[in-house]
Amino acid sequence: MINFNVPPYTGKEIEYIRQAVENQKICGDGPFTKKCDAWIEEKTGAAKSLLTTSCTHATELAALLADIKEGDEIIMPSYTFVSTADAFVLRGAKVVFVDIRPDTMNIDENLIEDAITERTKAIVPVHYAGVSCEMDKIMELAKKYNLYVIEDAAQGIMASYKGQALGSIGDFGCFSFHETKNLSMGEGGALLIKDAKYIEQAEIIREKGTNRAKFFRGQIDKYTWVNYGSSYLPSDMNAAYLWAQLEMAQEITDVRLARWEQYREALQPLADRGILELPVIPEGCVHNGHMFYAKAKDLEERTELLDFLKAEGVYSVFHYIPLHTAPAGKKFGVFHGEDKYTTKESERLFRLPMYYTLTEADVDYVVQKVKEFYHV
Ligand SMILES: *Cc1c(COP(=O)(O)O)cnc(C)c1O
Repeated sequence: MINFNVPPYTGKEIEYIRQAVENQKICGDGPFTKKCDAWIEEKTGAAKSLLTTSCTHATELAALLADIKEGDEIIMPSYTFVSTADAFVLRGAKVVFVDIRPDTMNIDENLIEDAITERTKAIVPVHYAGVSCEMDKIMELAKKYNLYVIEDAAQGIMASYKGQALGSIGDFGCFSFHETKNLSMGEGGALLIKDAKYIEQAEIIREKGTNRAKFFRGQIDKYTWVNYGSSYLPSDMNAAYLWAQLEMAQEITDVRLARWEQYREALQPLADRGILELPVIPEGCVHNGHMFYAKAKDLEERTELLDFLKAEGVYSVFHYIPLHTAPAGKKFGVFHGEDKYTTKESERLFRLPMYYTLTEADVDYVVQKVKEFYHV
């Protein structure tokens, strides 16, 4: 049986968690959290990284920092995970969905401008599969209309756009370290801040509205309640798990990219014959092997394929049900323009097993089963 996902584990996690326990510092912002944040800052060039309890929470924090309020409009794709929208809906904003590009499944940058109104406050590009959106165009629009750009880089760690790390290009970037992501801490994430002017407020909101971070740096004598806030900091034990992964980030990424290439090469003959469509990596984008997906002819064929694979012990999955078609999406959002690709492409797409410990032989087996299904 080949699982769809196995959480990444490098071998050092237990030792680091033991150290965290022995440090007698298992709450947030302990030594491992600091190490992880410094690593992320160094790797991405962000002015600040703040580990959070999830990417969802990092996005909520970004929405608070951008002062998103009732009546504001936020532009994003409908083809994404619910968290992308939830963070803004919680603030009372309306979500405006824009169609995707069929080649990358990312928001179509050329359809964004038409969706901008006087109420628009932010654009939220989602870097699907760790492949960047067209950030030059998105940043240009943000500048022209004075909008925030909040990158949903949940899948984007170790990936880049024209040499810039995903998550570090917009005003705020959000990583996920959920167990399904390339690098993990079980549940967790990080907020990346580009402009240092937001750091103090971010630390305050993340720490229940207090200036506790400043207090621990010795900059003030007492800490107190200074603004609204929440609790978005993870335990240092979780950060200890993540630290073992960050140390191995390049190795983990290289293995995933090798498996990704293997899938692509082995399935290319099916693409050449028009049976499957394979992912496209635009020029200037360096991806991270987060996901290997392909597209079948239609929903019916995809359903049959996934059933066949499951019967053969291969767990392949599909996602996402476009948000604008979901009950909450109808309530809190609106699709701007024509849904030319979002629904159609989402119904054809399937994801093949992809994780750090997936072997070359596993990939061979999966490919063989896909070929059997198509009688090639
Ligand atoms: C995984 C994911 C999230 C949510 O991440 P959590 O850390 O589980 O909150 C958000 N957006 C996208 C695109 C994701 O893939």
